[in-house]
Amino acid sequence: MQALVLEEKGVLALRDIDLPQTVGPDDVKIAIHTVGVCGSDVHYYTHGAIGPYVLRAPMVLGHEAAGTIVAVGENVRSLAVGDRVCMEPGIPDLSSRASKLGLYNVDPAVRFWATPPVHGILAPYAVHPAAFTYRLPDSVSFAEGAMVEPFAIGMQAATRARIVPGDVAAVIGAGPIGIMVALAALAGGCSRVLISDFSAEKLAIAAAYPGIEAVNLKETTFAAAVDTATRGWGADVVFEASGSAKAFEGLFNLVRPGGAAVLVGLPVDAVRFDVAGAISREVRIETVFRYANVFDRALELIASGKVDLKPLITGTYAFKDSIAAFDRAVEARPTDVKLQILVAEEG
Ligand SMILES: [Zn+2]
Repeated sequence: MQALVLEEKGVLALRDIDLPQTVGPDDVKIAIHTVGVCGSDVHYYTHGAIGPYVLRAPMVLGHEAAGTIVAVGENVRSLAVGDRVCMEPGIPDLSSRASKLGLYNVDPAVRFWATPPVHGILAPYAVHPAAFTYRLPDSVSFAEGAMVEPFAIGMQAATRARIVPGDVAAVIGAGPIGIMVALAALAGGCSRVLISDFSAEKLAIAAAYPGIEAVNLKETTFAAAVDTATRGWGADVVFEASGSAKAFEGLFNLVRPGGAAVLVGLPVDAVRFDVAGAISREVRIETVFRYANVFDRALELIASGKVDLKPLITGTYAFKDSIAAFDRAVEARPTDVKLQILVAEEG
């Protein structure tokens, strides 16, 4: 079957490859409809590795997907052929110690689509455990279904933050994940979310949502903006979504006494950390690695209309043009948030 294969760093091919198609008793088989292009897919393309995960053999890309079930295993009761679904790309060992604690995202044995050596799903069909496959409500499109995976990271961040209604949040970084975090923070009860970036274009996309206020770092510091917005008290929750080492300088000055700092962005190297700044305010520090138990909630929010991810889809490509989609993603246009690939023929 045809798939988008990353042959080696910098070399993509749309070609035939053998992918396992055996439907186990607890699995479903999905005809893939829409797949989002993720920053991690692009990073494997341009760098051939992310931290300890190194591409050593050709790998199919893609992990943000929605589609239609075409076969179900004999034990599957929750889903049926014809159901429209989206998929959680990580498959943990359900009997592992982490899974038993409800922390299956940090199960060391997790197999995650398009993380070497595991193939992704930029292909016409995928087989996946029913337990990590979620039915789309009728009002949720395939395009929105493929946005659930990146939004789930925002959901996990908002969950870890333990938001209280009326909280003021500050998000560092208006990239795709920063915007997802801001939307999840609002949905979680924040009264207002300040978001900072150096890109006016990215900020404009974020601030088009009611409740999100843009802070352009070319014009002011985030500390000054948070100070003004909270009359010197600080934000209840600060989300670091840039992964930039510079963001950690003065990070805790943004947090109110007793507030929380939630680390979402992944810095490439070790960063300096102002321990005294955190201790003097008794800042609660939380970290976010992917997500666990949030896909159902994300789908409920999208179906209810409380979260609208459609404006964030800024380009859609046909499957045959997948490589062009990736080359555009490499350009990292500031006006692009999410590019998607339509794998299904009929669209
Ligand atoms: Zn992703």
